[in-house]
Amino acid sequence: MYIMMIAAECAPVAKVGGLGDVVFGLSRELELRGHAVEIVLPKYDCMRHDHVWGLQVVDHALAVPWYGSTVECAVWFGFVHGRKCFFIEPRSPQSYFERGAYYGFPDDAERFAFFSKAALEFLLKAGKRPDVIHTHDWQTALVPVLLFEMYAAAGLGSQRVCHTIHNFRHQGTAGHEILRATGLNRPEYYGSPDRMGDGFGGHALNLTRGAILYSNFVTTVSPHHAWEVRHTDLGCGLGHTLHLHQDKFSGILNGLDYEMWNPETDPYIPQHYDAATAAQKAVNTDALRERMLLRQGARPVIGYVGRLDTQKGLHLIRHALWYALEHDAQFVLLGSGSEHGINEDFWHLKRQLNNNPDCHLEIGYDEELAHLIYAGAQFLVMPSNYEPCGLSQLIALRYGTVPVVRSVGGLRDTVFDWDFSSLPRTRRNGFVFEHPDHAGMDSALSRALGLWRQEPQLFQQLVAQGMACDYSWNNPGRDYLDVYEFIRHK
Ligand code: ADP
Repeated sequence: MYIMMIAAECAPVAKVGGLGDVVFGLSRELELRGHAVEIVLPKYDCMRHDHVWGLQVVDHALAVPWYGSTVECAVWFGFVHGRKCFFIEPRSPQSYFERGAYYGFPDDAERFAFFSKAALEFLLKAGKRPDVIHTHDWQTALVPVLLFEMYAAAGLGSQRVCHTIHNFRHQGTAGHEILRATGLNRPEYYGSPDRMGDGFGGHALNLTRGAILYSNFVTTVSPHHAWEVRHTDLGCGLGHTLHLHQDKFSGILNGLDYEMWNPETDPYIPQHYDAATAAQKAVNTDALRERMLLRQGARPVIGYVGRLDTQKGLHLIRHALWYALEHDAQFVLLGSGSEHGINEDFWHLKRQLNNNPDCHLEIGYDEELAHLIYAGAQFLVMPSNYEPCGLSQLIALRYGTVPVVRSVGGLRDTVFDWDFSSLPRTRRNGFVFEHPDHAGMDSALSRALGLWRQEPQLFQQLVAQGMACDYSWNNPGRDYLDVYEFIRHK
């Protein structure tokens, strides 16, 4: 099969969060299974050019219709760790992708609407006719709409679309001018609430609603989250639309790229290890303490790696930090947020704890340090308010770091409580709590630290069981192929 990914991120060249990991990891798995995969991305000025090999222009003048005129684009090609990637570089006065950051601009909807349109123009002009186009999140949600309303008649009539929603909180809100820009026009048609209207009666379009309507299949990133978005407010207004289209909607758990995340070969950690030699993690713990200026000694390290966003349960992350300090443990945090106020709060906390020998906060994005934390910490906390899938807990498990998580979304599908899970004890892999409050977090952390202190052998068993879990792309790769086959023959 020939699959074309169209996405705003692909790790490690352009990654903000889990979306980038998924686009890379799934593509790699599909290729390993013998399928042809290509990826179309914007050419951001801030992307990690050092992760692209053989970057060269393959089309100097892709003319993309836009607002009744055309914007000329260059299309580049390069390999990102073996993946075939095309990068679209518009030459427009708005400099859509030359902003020094991936997202966070008032015209984000317009930027990615342009990218969606340009990606389809590229397919059309380059004679690319994939069996399946796989789009991701709101940034590329217009692709299925444009494909079926405009490009099918122009020559892309047999392409099928699978759209994956990684985060329901960001659905892409655009004004009606997007319809004029892309050439869809007809605001009264597209703007109605049973099409792309956002349902609030104004002139706003919900791009993700468009993707749900027009795609041949829609997925989200874990089975439990697929349930949550239809039955709770976590669908953020799209629950009803998903109900109407439930026959083409399911949850497929994200996989983890086991090549990129492998404690046996990880170039960023001083000591390699596997499940049989997990005790050697101690060398990485010492290195982590040294790197984070913590004192050495027999204390467990609790870590957090992730975006600093209300989604992640920030009050409980802070609470875990204080809990660790009060209970003779150490705490390290690596994270950054897109909201100035949140970053400021954590900078304040960092300054407050500057001289504490048991705690270190690193506010920023640091791929290398993330690897060291996963390899060196004993526990990783994820007290998320909601979590569509979560990759950090999967990385933690792979690195023998015991996850302490809230029972929500993909965390519920992947972490099974050592004391209370209904699974057999040999399949349990972490600590889980229900309610997003201090009592919930305390109960899980006290059980976690208790096991580490009082039952070191059982703790090592728990570590080994976590490392034995298979959260690679093997199963999800097969699940996505089933979806692709289904929509190809529907
Ligand atoms: P989300 O997609 O909501 O950001 P996930 O848990 O699915 O969360 O994926 C987060 C990914 O991003 C993981 O690979 C994690 O290690 C990485 N990550 C997040 N924040 C940082 C950071 N500040 N530095 C390095 N890696 C980070």
